[in-house]
Amino acid sequence: VKKVAVLTSGGDAPGMNAAIRGVVRAALFEGMEVYGVYDGYLGLYNNNIKRLERFSVSDVISRGGTFLGSARFPEFKDPAVRAKAVENLRQHEIDSLVVIGGDGSYMGAKLITEEYGFPCIGIPGTIDNDVAGTDYTIGYQTALETALEAIDRLRDTSSSHQRVSIVEIMGRHCGDLTLGAAIAGGCEFIVVPERPFEREALIKKVEYGFQKGKRHSIIAITEYICDVNELAKEIEDRVKLETRATVLGHVQRGGAPCAFDRILASRMGVYAIELLKQGIGGRCIGIQNEKLVHHDIIDAITNMKRPFKADWFETSRKLY
Ligand code: ADP
Repeated sequence: VKKVAVLTSGGDAPGMNAAIRGVVRAALFEGMEVYGVYDGYLGLYNNNIKRLERFSVSDVISRGGTFLGSARFPEFKDPAVRAKAVENLRQHEIDSLVVIGGDGSYMGAKLITEEYGFPCIGIPGTIDNDVAGTDYTIGYQTALETALEAIDRLRDTSSSHQRVSIVEIMGRHCGDLTLGAAIAGGCEFIVVPERPFEREALIKKVEYGFQKGKRHSIIAITEYICDVNELAKEIEDRVKLETRATVLGHVQRGGAPCAFDRILASRMGVYAIELLKQGIGGRCIGIQNEKLVHHDIIDAITNMKRPFKADWFETSRKLY
């Protein structure tokens, strides 16, 4: 009998629970035993591993977050720590591991596969949509809806007060969440990490917009590009209009997963077990052009790049 373990790692994302459920139910369907590893690689190291049954994943499909818990555990970069983790898996006679997380988490899975020939399957779970080899990651669509709802609310109030609003959106080095939310929310200005930030041009455009008779302006910007409160102050000083920055922050990570993410997570969870059943390991799962695909996890991390949605960006510039 195959024994498979599943863990969630890195930043949590809505739909991770649905993915765990997919893995558990499909594994049981195939007659495998399933184990849950609590708190990501930390739990793997601490041997916090427990058998999961059919009912362990009851009522989780609609819940955000991850019931297995997640953790940042940089110690996993240490080979001795990984050796202990693999020893724990072997002690339970577990022969394969499904890792749900972002590219950092894939790195851990890649190393275990490389060093120990231990078959791992990576499932992309992050709101950032920044994982190579997939068009969408689990959690992105839900976070997009959350960010959009916030932008809609900001629009109401900034329009009433002739105000400039800056919205800081998550995504780390990937502008997908910002781009999607900004286009859907009708934001006039979009600043993403993949394109240079033209601060001066932005301020001039805001000024020009109000001269033309705009009642408000919404600027969508990805996190880590600049201090948005400082930018707000600068715009206020120069354009002479009240300017407020709103950092959406972790609200974007929570909430019930939308239908798209639940379906994607369920399909990917089942697909992971299908691959392991066929004896395929060291792969990461993606959805590309509507089809489930799998890539070599090592190749994906080292050679594959996520393409920037240049067409979305160009589109947005004509909607000003
Ligand atoms: P995400 O998976 O969302 O990208 P992180 O980058 O924080 O999030 O990675 C999650 C976890 O994966 C880390 O806390 C660590 O335990 C593990 N990890 C990340 N990078 C490496 C690495 N280079 N080697 C081994 N493990 C890693």
